[in-house]
Amino acid sequence: MKTLVLEHISHAYGRLLAVDDVSLEVAPGELVCLLGPSGCGKTTVLRIAAGLERLQTGRVLLEGEVAADGKISLPPEKRSVGLVFQDYALFPHLSVTDNVMFGLSGVAAPERTARAREALRQVGMLEYAEAFPHMLSGGQQQRVALARALAPHPRIMLLDEPFSGLDTALRNEVRDEALHILKGHGAATLMVTHDPEEAMFMADRIALMQKGRIAQVGTPTELYFEPTSAFAAAFFGDINRFEARVEGRSVPTPVGDIPAEGFADGTRVEVLIRPEGLQLRSGLEQGSDGHSVVEVMESRLLGRSSLIHLSAHGAGGGEAIHLHARAPGHFLPPVHEKLAVSLDPKQTFVFPLQPGA
Ligand code: ATP
Repeated sequence: MKTLVLEHISHAYGRLLAVDDVSLEVAPGELVCLLGPSGCGKTTVLRIAAGLERLQTGRVLLEGEVAADGKISLPPEKRSVGLVFQDYALFPHLSVTDNVMFGLSGVAAPERTARAREALRQVGMLEYAEAFPHMLSGGQQQRVALARALAPHPRIMLLDEPFSGLDTALRNEVRDEALHILKGHGAATLMVTHDPEEAMFMADRIALMQKGRIAQVGTPTELYFEPTSAFAAAFFGDINRFEARVEGRSVPTPVGDIPAEGFADGTRVEVLIRPEGLQLRSGLEQGSDGHSVVEVMESRLLGRSSLIHLSAHGAGGGEAIHLHARAPGHFLPPVHEKLAVSLDPKQTFVFPLQPGA
């Protein structure tokens, strides 16, 4: 049985339809990330699941029981959900232990202390049990917030941008710990983030949202290598993007022909190629082995990889297009060098051009 089920959720603020027919399931022990640009409705979905926002349309089921529909609406404290927000939301006048015990009001006193200490141990904060929130760093406060949410042993954890208040180094550390704590806990977790890399780091599955709707749901690998729209392909980082036209079941481009089965001749399409999908080779005579040729405009080392800016003309001598290629390690060909280029089909996508695009 799925722990959290959202069925056909829609939600409007006045005339703005913020969530439009969203359905989603989270299994026990599964971590699902709601990912999407700012304002696409992620937080609203999470708040409806938590009972913090009154349901307008659809149904929320928790462990098979209706938590909200047209008639019923269980308040948040009756939903067995643990909540973690970006701003930690700790009580400043309560110690770390008292903050964690606050979520255990229904539990007998001796057991409350034991449960709070166990949750603090899980997040590595037991030595700060008597400290007050202002004495802790942001990362430590977020660990306490996580402990407070976990202490009642909820079946469902709902997290809204839990790491975005932390600086980069701390964010990486805290989310790594949070991943292992959440997976070890076994709750069904739904986490909101706008950061695709964070979603890929944390999630078993990602639900990608666009303008209130779910654009695609799948594992990080599925979303990265099998995007079903140009939006999904482009959401996961820098991507080369240009228009072209289908000719005889393929799309001729300045970096080679791309198969386009299922498209009628003459269809206008959008081509998307990830920078790492452009594979470069130097030391070749121009076009000697049938490969397309590109010219280097700039090369930069980014650390673990190199970014090469390219100009591609194509055989017909049409207008040049500017492309980014990413090569592993140190690869800095000189400006104006001509390189042979081939395409990795797993990183190359063709979609019909959207009207108005
Ligand atoms: P962000 O990442 O910026 O928080 P989000 O994807 O979580 O965005 P929501 O916070 O769910 O999106 O908001 C969706 C839309 O609804 C936005 O256009 C937002 O301005 C609007 N909205 C959210 N809450 C309210 C509210 N209480 N009253 C009116 N409009 C709201």
